[in-house]
Amino acid sequence: MKKAQAHTSFLDSVNSNFEKAAPHTGLPAGLLAQIKACNSVYQMRFPVKIGKDYQVIEAYRVQHSHHRLPTKGGIRYSQKVNQDEVMALATLMTYKCAIVDVPFGGAKGGVKISPREYTPAQLQKITRRYTAELIRKNFIGPGIDVPAPDYGTGSREMAWILDTYMSFKGGEIDAAGCVTGKPVNQHGIQGRTEATGRGVFYALKEFASNKDDMAKLGLTPGLAGKTMAVQGLGNVGYYASKISQDEGDVKIICVAEYEGAIYKEDGIDIDKLMKYRKKNKGSILGFPGSKTMKSRKDVLEVKCDILVPAALENQIRKDNASKVKAKIIAEAANGPVTAEAETILLKKGIVIIPDMYINAGGVTVSYFEWLKNLSHMRFGRMEKRFNQRTYHNIAETVERLTGKSIGEKEKSVLLRGADEIDLVRSGLEETMINSYNQIRDVYNKKKNIKDLRTAAFVCALNKISSDYLSLGIFP
Ligand code: GLU
Repeated sequence: MKKAQAHTSFLDSVNSNFEKAAPHTGLPAGLLAQIKACNSVYQMRFPVKIGKDYQVIEAYRVQHSHHRLPTKGGIRYSQKVNQDEVMALATLMTYKCAIVDVPFGGAKGGVKISPREYTPAQLQKITRRYTAELIRKNFIGPGIDVPAPDYGTGSREMAWILDTYMSFKGGEIDAAGCVTGKPVNQHGIQGRTEATGRGVFYALKEFASNKDDMAKLGLTPGLAGKTMAVQGLGNVGYYASKISQDEGDVKIICVAEYEGAIYKEDGIDIDKLMKYRKKNKGSILGFPGSKTMKSRKDVLEVKCDILVPAALENQIRKDNASKVKAKIIAEAANGPVTAEAETILLKKGIVIIPDMYINAGGVTVSYFEWLKNLSHMRFGRMEKRFNQRTYHNIAETVERLTGKSIGEKEKSVLLRGADEIDLVRSGLEETMINSYNQIRDVYNKKKNIKDLRTAAFVCALNKISSDYLSLGIFP
């Protein structure tokens, strides 16, 4: 009973953020109510034979908004999956897609299982049956609803989904676009696995490049030398910290995982830590030179410049928010800060870079993958050689006119045509920079908006409402 009162539900928290932002848009109440509502909630139960027995599996797919199609969002495998959570996650997907100009509605799926308790063969059975249920109800398809990985799933599960879909709808020319986050050799795209983490890095880099915004926090501009604490070393946390360390010179001082948290003042090398964890029976504890913290939750209270909660929702709540000592919170996970906690954090002057923007790198690259599937061609195929030849001609002309020759090493950098991975990273970086500046503009222009989440909501609501208004639904 005490626990239930400790915090409001995830969906309540997302909707209370919506209510905070709605008055700043000046949009009519009916239109706001339509945007806020979850359009379709599909709750299913299906039997799967596990060992000798049948288990009844509980699963969901929620499509929050159909203002643009297909709808889009990952599938979560976790014992904690419930309808409220999947609805909240689907809702966030709608705003996320709008913020990064990905022309999709929001959706999310969930299967209530703990993946660790099943063999790969059993997981495959469950995934294929879940996909069949989605096909039966017309809840999947390249123009209908396109799943992707989320907590507890990855490219392996996406390959099973694709294969199941193909076996039902093999004749559809665009069938490969029915799911994203697929293995690269199964119609996937280079750079999708790292995309959410890389997006977090690009967003932080853009935030930190602004001298005035950093000065307000008592920080110098740029990421180099800034300290970071990371909760969760899953796909998102791992890539966010590794890329921040390798490409931004950020110092990771604290890391928390399921087994506990470690602290090392002079910095933790993320790759060395991952290798250590593998050898050490899956535990980060005891990493050379580090101190073990009392509880894994202590990561949230460490003194640092940037805190990256990259695990699950509802981590920073009203009971621990006052103990947070970071200057910037980068919401790599979905919903790690509750609406109640946010009020406390904002009063302390902490900047929260909101989930619906900062973790949108995954869906952005999913969009690129979907476009690749619909175009039936890899990015860079048409122009790579042409560009290389053009750069070569320019270099030759420069050499001829100056009488000097360009060194071989410089030449290899200058003359390179873009590959798929270069274009994906470039498209992702452009998206993260552009979207941040849209949010920052709203924040700076509207003086009564006091936080980046509200500004992000206003950006999203303006874009979604203009879709509805141009359809003439709300004259
Ligand atoms: N599950 C990821 C998210 O929460 C990715 C969704 C997608 O790529 O469709 O944004």
